[in-house]
Amino acid sequence: MIEQAIKGAIRDIPDFPKPGIIFKDITPILKDPELCEGIVDAFVEGLKDTRIDAIAGVESRGFLFGLTLATKLGVPFVPVRKAGKLPHTVKQKVYELEYGTATIELHTDAFKPGDHILIHDDLLATGGTVSAASELIQEMGGKVAGFTFVVGLGFLNGLEKIEPISDKVIVLAN
Ligand code: IMP
Repeated sequence: MIEQAIKGAIRDIPDFPKPGIIFKDITPILKDPELCEGIVDAFVEGLKDTRIDAIAGVESRGFLFGLTLATKLGVPFVPVRKAGKLPHTVKQKVYELEYGTATIELHTDAFKPGDHILIHDDLLATGGTVSAASELIQEMGGKVAGFTFVVGLGFLNGLEKIEPISDKVIVLAN
């Protein structure tokens, strides 16, 4: 039900941001408040037996539902950002991309050691970004409570990468 609604709302944009890539544009979802509410409710339902002390949302589209979900669950939201964007003291993680590397950062006071952190992003592709986020969280003493995504690109096998980190993985539409 929610899966069909999400799939119906997403647009495929060919050759964006580079030739040969079909980009899944989630912005039409954001224009549908009922669907947005349904997405958050589906996450809440799937997480009802999971301890969550904070939600880490990945820049930038992970901020959209990440904050809404955190507010609904009554827990803090902490942004995982690209290098150089967070103003306070940070800890960073460099990770491999297909070509080159990328760096993500978290504020060092984002959470307390031992806290259970849910990682949220809009879309799961290869799983490289959220794996890096989970390594950063673990290096800072946090435990990965699980992962939530609105969309998963199944053919990129991101699940294989993240399921060993946590068995709580919610992908609403594949
Ligand atoms: P991964 O690290 O390969 O799993 O890539 C996931 C990251 O890239 C997420 O932060 C997504 O927002 C972004 N991303 C990759 N492909 C798409 C897409 O087709 N639509 C929207 N975001 C995408």
